Amino acid sequence: MDSRTVALMRTTFKAVAAEEGGPERLARSFYAILFTDHPHIRDLFPAALDAQRDRLVKAIGFVIDRLEEPGALLPFLAQLGRDHRKYGVTAEHYAAVGESLQAALRGYAGTELWTDEVERAWRAGIGLIAETMMSAAEQEDTPPYWTGTVVEHRAVLSNLSVVRVRLDQAMRFAPGQYVSVQIPARPRMWRYLSPATPPTADHEVEFHIRAVSGGWVSPAVVGHTRVGDKWLLGAPMGGLGVPRNTRRKLLMVACGTGIAPLRAQLMAMTQRRSNPKVHLFVGGHHPCDLYDLPALNDLALAHKWLTVVPVVESDENPWWHCESGEPEPAYPGLAERRVGQIGKVVAAAGPWPEHDVQIVGSPSMVQTTKFRLMAAGTPAEHIRHDPLF
Ligand SMILES: Cc1cc2nc3c(=O)[nH]c(=O)nc-3n(C[C@H](O)[C@H](O)[C@H](O)COP(=O)(O)OP(=O)(O)OC[C@H]3O[C@@H](n4cnc5c(N)ncnc54)[C@H](O)[C@@H]3O)c2cc1C
Repeated sequence: MDSRTVALMRTTFKAVAAEEGGPERLARSFYAILFTDHPHIRDLFPAALDAQRDRLVKAIGFVIDRLEEPGALLPFLAQLGRDHRKYGVTAEHYAAVGESLQAALRGYAGTELWTDEVERAWRAGIGLIAETMMSAAEQEDTPPYWTGTVVEHRAVLSNLSVVRVRLDQAMRFAPGQYVSVQIPARPRMWRYLSPATPPTADHEVEFHIRAVSGGWVSPAVVGHTRVGDKWLLGAPMGGLGVPRNTRRKLLMVACGTGIAPLRAQLMAMTQRRSNPKVHLFVGGHHPCDLYDLPALNDLALAHKWLTVVPVVESDENPWWHCESGEPEPAYPGLAERRVGQIGKVVAAAGPWPEHDVQIVGSPSMVQTTKFRLMAAGTPAEHIRHDPLF
């Protein structure tokens, strides 16, 4: 895509999205136009669209920011196209979405900003995005989605569950990738989750899910998942991973369930003959939040290349945490627990100028940690994370 087209798309999108309440209004207008002009498309979306709106605008922003990086954008769009097969979308749906998005943008940009040249730029940009997604979907020979049965549900914290799902057929995913998941209690509300284990011979996938208060899906997973429930999984997405035979040292930073895609990669690395040195910082608010330390302790004890550093913001458990009365378990494989904000702790333990870095957690944790590492001398191009939506 030429730089003039990119600049025109970026300027209009930023002008609309930067306004107070702009993203929300743009998304509302887009869905209103889409469902009025193409009412049959409404069935593809969940009844409640609030979370959907936020994600839509973030996803458009993510794509717009990468229009001049085809090496990163095209594989992302191809994955998105393969994932969208789960909705049964057709070329007609892509066209309807493209037209409605342009109509919504035109409405907010106004005649001064929305010139014929801007219109052509958006048409070309949306056409390229749709073409990339559709062509990746057409070339794919895997199922549009995978079906699986919950075989275990373990509450590891009051608001965090480990769920194991046995798929009816193999899914080839790379450890570190994520998949969209639909549970029976929340039809059409797909949410991304990261497998916490590499692919297994019996097609079992483990997920770690934290209940986000006020969320539509995660509290239902943690509160109501039963063995025997049928889950649907979309095609794998994301680019985190450690190439075989790499010599570059690794720094991994996770908060909460962010540990899932990192431990999947570490577990896969244990099957390799040699590995670079890996430093993993795993964080939580309180000591009781560090639910996966037993598994990480085992990994670190068995593999000298791995150093695991637990980090907490407060060294005390909160008053509402029910202590078992037992002393805290000792984890001889782990480094001493550090106290502080995880980005600060990791940056202070550096410098990490030569390391490949992966950060996984909430959007704010990822941004803050990335900022701290860059300020401490880690080049931005060494730092990877999943899209923040
Ligand atoms: C690449 C990727 C991988 C992910 N992997 C996992 C995983 O392995 N395990 C897991 O538990 N979650 C994971 N998530 C988050 C998950 O996809 C959902 O966003 C999350 O479970 C909330 O969904 P919900 O339906 O409960 O909340 P929604 O109904 O979607 O949101 C309700 C409200 O909560 C806010 N919100 C959403 N997520 C969070 C959050 N994390 N913290 C604070 N507020 C939030 C929303 O902005 C909204 O205002 C991942 C997300 C991404 C992008």
